[in-house]
Amino acid sequence: MIKHPQWKKQFGGFDLVARTAERPRTIVRVAGLAIGGGSFVVMAGPCAVESERQLLETAEAVAAVGARVLRGGAYKPRSSPYSFQGLGVEALKLLRKAGQQTGLAVVTEVMSEEDVETVAEYADIMQVGSRSMENYSLLEALGRCGRPVLLKRGMTARLEELLDSAQVIAAAGNPDIILCERGIRTFETATRNTLDIAAVPVLQAVSHLPVIVDPSHAAGVRSLVPVLARAAAVVGADGVLVEVHPAPEQALSDGIQSLTFDEFAEMVRDLRRYVPISERPVPSILQGVRA
Ligand code: PEP
Ligand code: MN
Repeated sequence: MIKHPQWKKQFGGFDLVARTAERPRTIVRVAGLAIGGGSFVVMAGPCAVESERQLLETAEAVAAVGARVLRGGAYKPRSSPYSFQGLGVEALKLLRKAGQQTGLAVVTEVMSEEDVETVAEYADIMQVGSRSMENYSLLEALGRCGRPVLLKRGMTARLEELLDSAQVIAAAGNPDIILCERGIRTFETATRNTLDIAAVPVLQAVSHLPVIVDPSHAAGVRSLVPVLARAAAVVGADGVLVEVHPAPEQALSDGIQSLTFDEFAEMVRDLRRYVPISERPVPSILQGVRA
């Protein structure tokens, strides 16, 4: 099924995650969503959960224009011990409340295997951050967590290494994995990371797992986020994960790359020109009424 001979050599050995004739595609089904099922899933929210108001306002704004998944960090991997580290369990509770109020599924990062059980109580999708892609004890614990995993590519990881990590999660019992390209380190410094857009078609050719793109951490500046999201849509990604904040200049983390509500709405409007955006299912009681 993997046609290119070199890719076959490189990726054919991943018995649980490689694309085969028997298993060309995995659709990750979670909270009424089908990720990898042909429509483009927009995931959005703040880098970090900062307050109830910040999160609820953001959730409502992004849900209103087409997001299906709310993102927000509760445990933040920060390079300085003096930076905001996240609100922990308090943030998880706010995420669940915001998710319930808006009908959005919730994705949030889990940094330690000790927190897997707690995060799984509140989140629909468990995010593995770039810095944790090779934390194998975390990956194994996620194999047993009973929730889909959004696995980000390590910032210096080759695609083979990303699939190594996916295979660890799958081998531990969890086949529901979403791969995420979020930019890699190169010699270029004009952007925070270099978006490896080719990762999307390569991963889709060699693996059956859905592939999404995080244009925010790739760009590092908000003005580039919409055009990189468009690139993701055009190249065939299954969705995007985007940072949005009510007042980006006051954000406690990643404000420079966070979109305002208006910029996010405009980005989704633009994406609709290229791909079918995953819409909220109409509740059965309203079916027919709206038709
Ligand atoms: C994040 O999603 O806020 C994050 C920390 O991303 P990454 O792990 O890609 O740096
Ligand atoms: Mn961030």
